[in-house]
Amino acid sequence: MQKKDLETRLIHGYFDRSKHHGSLTHPLYQTSTFVFDNAEQGEARFAGNESGYIYSRLGNPTVSELEKKMADLEEAEEAVAFSSGMAAVSAVLIHLMKAGDHILVSEGVYGCTFGFLEMANEKFNIDFDLMQMDSPEKIRAMIRPETKVLYLETPINPTMKLVDLEMVIKVAKEEGLKVVVDNTFCSPYLQQPITVGADFVIHSATKYISGHGDVIAGIAAGPAEDMQTIRMTTLKDIGGVLGPFDAWLLLRGLKTLAVRMDRHCENARLIFDKLKDEPNVRKIIYPGDPTFSQHGLAKKQMKDFGGLISFEIDGGKEAAQRFMNELNVVQVAVSLGDAESLIQHPASMTHSVVPEEERKKMGINDSLVRLSVGLESPMDIWDDMKQALEKTFLKI
Ligand SMILES: *Cc1c(COP(=O)(O)O)cnc(C)c1O
Repeated sequence: MQKKDLETRLIHGYFDRSKHHGSLTHPLYQTSTFVFDNAEQGEARFAGNESGYIYSRLGNPTVSELEKKMADLEEAEEAVAFSSGMAAVSAVLIHLMKAGDHILVSEGVYGCTFGFLEMANEKFNIDFDLMQMDSPEKIRAMIRPETKVLYLETPINPTMKLVDLEMVIKVAKEEGLKVVVDNTFCSPYLQQPITVGADFVIHSATKYISGHGDVIAGIAAGPAEDMQTIRMTTLKDIGGVLGPFDAWLLLRGLKTLAVRMDRHCENARLIFDKLKDEPNVRKIIYPGDPTFSQHGLAKKQMKDFGGLISFEIDGGKEAAQRFMNELNVVQVAVSLGDAESLIQHPASMTHSVVPEEERKKMGINDSLVRLSVGLESPMDIWDDMKQALEKTFLKI
């Protein structure tokens, strides 16, 4: 059978409805354990001589359905679901690394990923370097005999710097390194790193995959052999397992991923168009901006430009906070990819643990705010921002 388009695969499932009373949606198996027909069957399942579920830390039908869907959407052989994006990040990295190994990481990665790398360095002697992966020569210069993995996010939060996936993957292949991409910002609808040669993709499914701000979850996808090992080691024995109801919510959220992403992208485009004419708004960072330094790369490797916009407003932290406090439709909160528009102040929130000097180097100053454009009417989002800007600058 010919493979259906992504929009269709998001909606249709893999389970046999005739075995589930014709249920349209995937049934929720809210159970911790599975009853064996008899003791011998239990023995056969544990021995691996008979397939079937045993205990929900090792597998659950609702979670499996989500894993199959995510593997399919990312064009991976297999996927494993986790209780958070960080559980997925740490499980994949612990699987790939051992004491004495070294990992190259794109500068500006998610704060807790950085935190995990620091802990792994301190406790398990796994070394890492942060770098701007913007040329093959630079990457080659940082590779050591102990280097095993290139780990990256593109675009990066909140500075929207992109990494050229094809370029990095080419270097990694030549040097025999694995490439891990945190694809949270794009979702498989905008970017599928495995189709251009990445080995593993990770998601904080908390964001666009869920899309409704009601779940914390993670996904890792990659080669079958690795994913099976991850399932039976860094998932099973560390235990960051996704609950069946959360998997069910993600399956529900995924059905609308394509329409949601189209609307997120469209709304972001409209907000950018308005923002760029605002006198008190400076330095808008948005890959869809034709003058953005990596606009061409964004066009090449992303289907559209995403739903995130960062910008600086005049007057530093005080003005930024005043602006945020005047918003009514846009909510002041971290996280992204939800139906609600969300705004946060990276210097005092998501990146407050990064030392000020390092923040400045990354381009995160006190005037910068990051907006996750939601699915509301774009005019209502804009009217809200406009009145907040007016109030902010009247008061100064
Ligand atoms: C949120 C996020 C994570 C962590 O995911 P959780 O689900 O919060 O554990 C990792 N990477 C990126 C890019 C994120 O935005």
